[in-house]
Amino acid sequence: MEKIKNYINGAFLPPNSNNYFNNYNPSTGEVYSMIPDSTEEDVQLAVDSSKKAFPVWSELSAEKRSEYLLRIAEIINKYSEKLAVAETVDNGKPLWLSKSVDIPRAVKNFEFFASAIKHFSSEAHSTDKNTLNYTLRQPVGIIGAISPWNLPLYLFTWKIAPALAAGNCVIGKPSEITPMTSYMLSEICIEAGLPGGVLNIVHGYGNTAGKAVVSHPEIKAITFTGGTSTGREISKIASPMFKKLSLELGGKNPVIIFSDCRYDEMLETTVNSSFRNQGEICLCGSRIFIEKNLYKKFRDDFIKRVSQLTVGDPLLDSSNLGAIVSKQHFEKILYYIELAKTEGGKILCGGNPVKINGRCDGGWFIEPAVIEGLSSDCRTNQEEIFGPVVTIIPFENEEEVLQMANSTEYGLASVIWTENLSRAHNLSAKIKSGIVWINCWMVRDLRTPFGGVKNSGIGREGGLEALRFFTEPKNVCIKY
Ligand code: NAD
Repeated sequence: MEKIKNYINGAFLPPNSNNYFNNYNPSTGEVYSMIPDSTEEDVQLAVDSSKKAFPVWSELSAEKRSEYLLRIAEIINKYSEKLAVAETVDNGKPLWLSKSVDIPRAVKNFEFFASAIKHFSSEAHSTDKNTLNYTLRQPVGIIGAISPWNLPLYLFTWKIAPALAAGNCVIGKPSEITPMTSYMLSEICIEAGLPGGVLNIVHGYGNTAGKAVVSHPEIKAITFTGGTSTGREISKIASPMFKKLSLELGGKNPVIIFSDCRYDEMLETTVNSSFRNQGEICLCGSRIFIEKNLYKKFRDDFIKRVSQLTVGDPLLDSSNLGAIVSKQHFEKILYYIELAKTEGGKILCGGNPVKINGRCDGGWFIEPAVIEGLSSDCRTNQEEIFGPVVTIIPFENEEEVLQMANSTEYGLASVIWTENLSRAHNLSAKIKSGIVWINCWMVRDLRTPFGGVKNSGIGREGGLEALRFFTEPKNVCIKY
């Protein structure tokens, strides 16, 4: 069985402990590779190699670093087919999605920041006739990049690309649930000739390998995407050490539908925003609020559309939804569906485990579920489920829906469907989330700030925000 290796100092290394743990294929429930159980010792080796690499890497011209990033992008592209299959086997998501979204986006992340760093500038302030201030933007040093399982290569490279572009060295810790494409990224970096130590990838559990990255005194900044409670644990360690922190955390996103919306477009997009990637996207809308006079029509049409979705082998083009990423997550989602029932919710469609005959009969599959009849403040509507489960709730007016939309601890993304321009602007300003989509969903421009408010995180990534996070501004004041 294949053993994944750490990528340290430009080469593959087994974990210092020589211990490995199981990597499952969620579509079959079978173990198909082994993951290094890395510890502090492995992270220390990674830090040592990054320290050696940093002086040369940080002093390369932006142009030269950009060339390395473009080479990595090119090689990801060359292996895109193989990477897409690997992502699907590891995560359970449909292959068409890995091919059309995950892998192309990893390419774009490198291409985008390879270009962005060449346009990144800093400020100068002429204070008076003889005094000039200018700001240097210097790399922070060694960055810890910790990523989740839902968009494995997509989110891992979203952190690595800007950090490297800005002249930092990076120690990446991908999710232990989906490590395969980050392992393949190490092979790609070797093929691209990336100097050893510029990027190290250490595999393992969060509370050992991840914690060792967060605690290491020579890792000066942490970029983390994952759950809110993990973010809190990371913050407890990193904040007293005064590390720079970017935390992209959970969500419970509202979708607000007014009766004046472009109906067909809204319906199609809402099916996607609810169940794309099995609902395992932090940006999926899980609470759907519908204006009262449209509620019945929407409910009937939505259930009809959702019931037509196919849950199946993610390698087949005909599968709209694939497998749930792990047994543990599968059980968590089913727990929440039961909870919804005990809270008085009516399951309008789906919500059952799906048995798929043949190759996938040991896999973890769930029918997309639509639930109604729950109050906005019950646990089902307050806690993140992160699966193919949405609730639908009618509302009377803007004031009421705004109150319900803003009533959770989260504030990542919101979606508003209306043709009324004043209402769209008014609600966008008042809604408490870092991202608002009006009459669309998941339209991404990599230049825009990305992140959440409240318990959905601190800081913004994307575009110049990322390059600012991965650099330290130093002001120089000169009197001449
Ligand atoms: P998770 O928090 O369990 O794990 C994320 C990463 O953190 C993994 O690599 C894990 O090994 C590591 N980790 C766990 N404990 C750690 C610790 N104590 N110290 C250091 N590292 C640790 O999250 P997950 O289950 O992989 O991902 C799902 C969550 O991610 C959901 O809550 C989802 O909303 C969130 N998410 C947020 C965004 C966003 O952009 N805001 C994007 C994707 C996913």
